[in-house]
Amino acid sequence: MTVDLALDEQLRQEVRSWITDNAVAEVKHVRQGPRGTERSEAMTEWERRLIEGRWICSHWPEEYGGRGLDSFQNGIVSDEFSRAGFPRVSRGMGESLVSPAIIVHGDPDQKRYFLPRILDGTDRYCQGFSEPGAGSDLAGLQTRGVVDGEEVIITGQKVWTSGAQFANMMFCLCRTDPEAPKHRGISYVLVPMPENGFDVRPLRQMTGGAGFNEVFIDAARAPLFNVIGGLHNGWRVANTTLGNERRGGGTRHVGFLHNWQRVVDKARENGKIDDPNVRQQLAWAYTKVQIIRYQAERMNALAAAGLEPGPEASVGKMLWSEYARRFGEMAMDIAGMESLVRPEHEDYRQNEWMGMFLGSRSGTIWGGTAEVQRNIVGERALGLPKDPSAENDRSQPFSPNR
Ligand SMILES: Cc1cc2nc3c(=O)[nH]c(=O)nc-3n(C[C@H](O)[C@H](O)[C@H](O)COP(=O)(O)OP(=O)(O)OC[C@H]3O[C@@H](n4cnc5c(N)ncnc54)[C@H](O)[C@@H]3O)c2cc1C
Repeated sequence: MTVDLALDEQLRQEVRSWITDNAVAEVKHVRQGPRGTERSEAMTEWERRLIEGRWICSHWPEEYGGRGLDSFQNGIVSDEFSRAGFPRVSRGMGESLVSPAIIVHGDPDQKRYFLPRILDGTDRYCQGFSEPGAGSDLAGLQTRGVVDGEEVIITGQKVWTSGAQFANMMFCLCRTDPEAPKHRGISYVLVPMPENGFDVRPLRQMTGGAGFNEVFIDAARAPLFNVIGGLHNGWRVANTTLGNERRGGGTRHVGFLHNWQRVVDKARENGKIDDPNVRQQLAWAYTKVQIIRYQAERMNALAAAGLEPGPEASVGKMLWSEYARRFGEMAMDIAGMESLVRPEHEDYRQNEWMGMFLGSRSGTIWGGTAEVQRNIVGERALGLPKDPSAENDRSQPFSPNR
């Protein structure tokens, strides 16, 4: 990979002047609303301008509405939007998890059909991977896919399916060849929902929200056209998605920096900013975010060079997920008693500080647990003996390039 600093700086300037020329004042400092919430008119207009400017899904090839940015440059764009205080609208899992799989493994017709629908917000995806008996051991999944003429008929149960209640598409792993070894008989299918045999049941979690769901699938139909990467070849496609999930798009530090600034503002407001212990904690957190940022940039550089994320992605995931947990505790500590008060607004079951604390607990579970990441680093980076009990799929990512 060659890094052209002049080009990166040119991109930075381009984003800055685009924001100056196109800003919609009402959306400044407004965070993109949670899935399923109504968009204001101002936000809708902002989204329209972002699409026109090709600032959503900018890492896609130009022919599909992107700018062909590598993930390092994509990080620069996110940084600049964050610095200016304007939300860089994301298309959620459609953008971060499905589109890389479609781009790498889809045929030209599939790319032409599915990518624009993600970009303009028509298709909102959820991830149908985990099952009651298949989490870390993902290739043990039991959901069946039976080919019937030009369609696949899917029956089974998924769990922990984030945002399924707001989605109209699921990227679903199902077993289409039960006779094949467990990694070989899986297909990766884009399945329309919810009126297609889906029963979505929200699971209430300790944050008070219902971010994820149990999903029961009874003979859902999808055209064979919606099978990405070919029948029975889904494990390979799934690993493109999983690698991107672990890597987290390489821009996580942007949100962390936002939260850090909120806590600094709170410490100024409640007078704790002069407390040497608080100052030390804030300095620790800021330093850690910078390390996370450089780690992400290292990953971005690997991705830009066409290499699949390897054990480095696991190091990165441990770093940010364990940082987030400690930061969540720190945020509540600095906010003090206020962090225990439930807001009056009925839609909010927790205040901002409690949200940072509770929300941070899940990062060490999803996308491969902390224990699984340690296995990967132990076995693949440090050369330690394999865990004999683990025929562990999420810990053994398919890695064609490395
Ligand atoms: C907030 C959140 C959102 C999620 N969203 C989605 C989603 O949208 N779609 C989806 O498909 N899934 C989703 N998941 C599920 C997630 O991918 C799984 O929870 C995760 O893969 C772990 O699987 P499991 O829960 O079945 O735990 P298990 O795999 O049963 O693990 C239980 C415990 O055993 C440990 N363990 C397991 N295997 C090993 C091993 N080989 N070595 C050492 N320790 C091991 C684990 O670390 C863990 O502590 C989400 C999870 C969370 C928390």
